[in-house]
Amino acid sequence: MAVRVSADASSSQTLDPGLYIVATPIGNLGDITLRAVDVLRRCDGVACEDTRVTGKLMKHLGLSKPLWRYNDHSEHRDRERLVSSMRERAIALVSDAGTPLVSDPGYRLVNDCRAEGIPVTVIPGACALIAGLTLSGLPNDRFLFAGFLPSKDKARRDALAEVADIDATIIFYETAPRLIKSLIAIGEVLPEREIAVARELTKLHEELRRGLPHGLVAWFEKHPPKGEIVLLIGPPVEMHSSQADIEALLWEALDTLKPSQAAAQVARATGEDRKALYARALEMRRE
Ligand code: SAM
Repeated sequence: MAVRVSADASSSQTLDPGLYIVATPIGNLGDITLRAVDVLRRCDGVACEDTRVTGKLMKHLGLSKPLWRYNDHSEHRDRERLVSSMRERAIALVSDAGTPLVSDPGYRLVNDCRAEGIPVTVIPGACALIAGLTLSGLPNDRFLFAGFLPSKDKARRDALAEVADIDATIIFYETAPRLIKSLIAIGEVLPEREIAVARELTKLHEELRRGLPHGLVAWFEKHPPKGEIVLLIGPPVEMHSSQADIEALLWEALDTLKPSQAAAQVARATGEDRKALYARALEMRRE
């Protein structure tokens, strides 16, 4: 069962009782939908990860509502109380940023609401993995979101080996302090795969950097990363080694490597002739 929400942001009607899953911006406060503002204006209260973070967003929107801290590990009784309150009240669920439930709390709440017959609806919006995928230009006809990579070296390599043969772009959430370690691990397990690092999406210092893992390690060692990161691994190479892709790989490799090294790396990645690639790399350097 779903609750209906008016698309008219100026409506002052109260909302039907139930749970409203509301996406919020991932950096740029302009990235909130009219419908999200409407629900936050008309709901009876907001369940959120951190009341300070959501308090700032509400203040920015000129709204004031009761805020309740929620995470999926809260006491079962607390969740039960919240769910049963939705028989009479409209409760919005937000996370600190982006889409609730995507590497964020809410999964258990949604399931408990469903089990209790409480209406649930979603107000979609910003989500870092989709923003990163679309900005990356990597193949997007098939993709797999795999959450955060483990922090321990062996577990990280195992997680990468597990997804190695999947014919899709693989997307991870990543943190700045761990980026270089993850790129090194990708260089060991999947040296030939094209990588995209999408950093600080929608914010002032938004950056998208594409290349092979070793080249990106060299880049980020010289330019230590800051902020929030989506890390994407392109599909297995046979899937996209058209002439245009090979040229693009060579251009990217030349960002950080000498022509001979770039040619060797792209030859390894694509199976193309190394001498021909070297000649092309020298031409590119002159262009
Ligand atoms: N639920 C959120 C969503 O819809 O994207 C994700 C929450 S998860 C706890 C936080 C992670 O999302 C960050 O560590 C980072 O990997 C990614 N992320 C969030 N905002 C980002 C941004 N503006 N730029 C790049 N990555 C971002």
